[in-house]
Amino acid sequence: MSFEKTKWVWQNGNQLLWDEAKIHSSAHALHYGTGVFEGIRAYETPQGPAVFRLKEHLDRLYASAKVYDLQIPCTPEQLTEAISENVRLNGLKNCYIRPLVFFDRGDLGIRAACPTSVMIIAWEWAEAIDAEKKARGLRVTVSPWKKFHSSMMPTTAKSSGQYLNSILAVREAAQRGFDEALLLDINGNLAEGAVENIFLVKDGKVLTNDEKSSILLGITRQSVIEIARNLGYGVEIRALALDELFSADEAFLTGTAIEIAPIREVDGQTIGDGRTRPVTEKIRKTFFEIVTGRKPEYRGWLHFVESKLGAPTSAGRFAPRVRAM
Ligand code: PMP
Repeated sequence: MSFEKTKWVWQNGNQLLWDEAKIHSSAHALHYGTGVFEGIRAYETPQGPAVFRLKEHLDRLYASAKVYDLQIPCTPEQLTEAISENVRLNGLKNCYIRPLVFFDRGDLGIRAACPTSVMIIAWEWAEAIDAEKKARGLRVTVSPWKKFHSSMMPTTAKSSGQYLNSILAVREAAQRGFDEALLLDINGNLAEGAVENIFLVKDGKVLTNDEKSSILLGITRQSVIEIARNLGYGVEIRALALDELFSADEAFLTGTAIEIAPIREVDGQTIGDGRTRPVTEKIRKTFFEIVTGRKPEYRGWLHFVESKLGAPTSAGRFAPRVRAM
C-alpha cells in the first residue's frame, strides 16, 4: 500500500499542507497503539468520486472509538465533510482514505489520560495486489499465528495495536513466498485473512463466519452478503472448519483494499478446479458495477464528494478551510 505524498492532510479540524502535518514523539498512540482507524475507498464514477459505504465506515469508527473510550471531538457529519473536502482539495479520483483517531500527547501512563486527536489522509490508489495476480487467484497459507480471541481484545473494533497480529502473520507468509496469510481462531476454525474476511462457496451456497470466530465485521463482507442474497444465492453465516476450505468449490477474500479476491491455492492445495469461479465472478462483477456508480439500485451505498452530484461546491473547493473544533 505505497503512496505518493498529497498536498493536504486533515488534522483536528484543519486542512494542513502535507509537510506541516506532524505528530509529537510523545504521542500515546505511537507508544502503545492506542488508536482506532478506518480504511475507506472512493471510486471514480460518472458523477465524480464517490466514497463507498462512508456511513458504515464512520459508524464502525465511532463504535471502535467507544470501546477504547476515545472521545471523537467532532460529529460524523463533520468527518463526512472533512473527508469529502480532503478528496476534493487533493484532486483525488480513485483513492484510499484513512481516518485515524488516537490518544495524543499529554501522558504516557497506561490509563491513557490524554486528549484525542483525529486525522485524515487520503491518497490516489495503487492496487494492493496487482490485477493479474488477483485474476489468477491468490496463493495463501494457514498462518502459524492464531487470530487473538475476542475475549482478549475486541476483534470487532478496528484498533491500531491489534494489527501487530496481522503484521506477524503477513510477514511470515511472505517469507515463505505466499500472497496472504489465513489465521485460524483459537478453536482451530477459520477466522480471517490478515486484513480480509473469508468466504467459501459450496454447492451454490455462499458461506462466511461472524464475530463468534473473532473477526472484524468487514464492510465489504456485509456488502458481499447483501449482493449474494440479491443475486439469489443462499448465504450461511456460521463457524467454518478448516477442512471446509479445502473442500470448497470456490473461496475468496474480501476487504476494502483487496476488494474481492479469489483464493487459488491454500498451502499448495488447489481450491476447486483452480480456474473457474462462477459465483465469485458474478459477485465481483456486481461489486465493481456498484462502486463505479453503474447500479442505480445501490446508489445509497455511495457518497459523492461533490456536494451536488457532479456540481463543484463553492466554499472550500480551491482553498483549504481552517476550522476550530
Ligand atoms: N479483517 C481485518 C482484520 C481487517 O483489517 C479488514 C480490513 N479493514 C477486514 C477484515 C475487511 O474489512 P473491510 O471490508 O471493512 O475493509
